[in-house]
Amino acid sequence: MSTPAFVVCGPTAVGKDTLIRRMRGLEPRIWLSISATTRDPRPGEVDGVDYYFVTQSRFDELIASGDMLEWAVVHGVHRYGTPRQPVTEALDRGDIALLEVDLAGARQVRQSMPEATQIFIAPPAFEDLARRLAARGTEGPEERQRRLETAKVELAAADEFDHVVVNDDVARATDELLSIIRSMG
Ligand code: 5GP
Repeated sequence: MSTPAFVVCGPTAVGKDTLIRRMRGLEPRIWLSISATTRDPRPGEVDGVDYYFVTQSRFDELIASGDMLEWAVVHGVHRYGTPRQPVTEALDRGDIALLEVDLAGARQVRQSMPEATQIFIAPPAFEDLARRLAARGTEGPEERQRRLETAKVELAAADEFDHVVVNDDVARATDELLSIIRSMG
C-alpha cells in the first residue's frame, strides 16, 4: 500500500458530503469508498453510486465472509459497512482513499488500519446541526431526534481523531481538508 487511507467522520448534517464532493472536484486522485447499507434508497440515490443497497441477509453474508473492513449499526437502526476489496485496490493503485464512516466504524479502522489518518468534521456549534437537519428535510422528527442524540456522542469523541476540521465555511473547510490530505498523500 503506497498511500495511506483517510477516515472522515462527523455528525449528521455537518456537511460531510458537500465537503467531500468539493474536495473531489479539486483533487482527482481522491477515491471515495462506496458503502453497503441495509437502509432504503432516498429519492435520487442510485445503487452502486451512492451506496450498495443490500438486504439484511446479504449484509450478514458480507460480514461472515470477511468482506467488510468495518461495519456498524448507525443511528440505532440500519447497518452500514465498508467493503474491503475496493479499498485495498484503490490503495494499491496509489489513489487517495477516503472512507466516510460513523464513530464505531472509525474506531474499527483505527484498530485494523492504524496507519489511516482520522479526520473529524465538527460544526461550529451543536445548534447548527439541528437547524441544518431540519432545513434538509430528508428525515422526520423522530429520526432527526435520533440523529441528534448520536451527534452528541460523536462530538464528545472528537479528541480521538488526528484532525478536527470545523465546517464554519465550506470553502475554508475544504481547503483545510485538502491540505491535510495533500500533506500525507
Ligand atoms: P445516511 O443514512 O445519512 O446516508 O448515512 C448516515 C451515516 O452513516 C453517515 O453519516 C455515516 O456516519 C454513516 N456511514 C455511512 N457509510 C458508512 C460505512 O460504510 N460504515 C460506517 N460505519 N458508517 C457509515
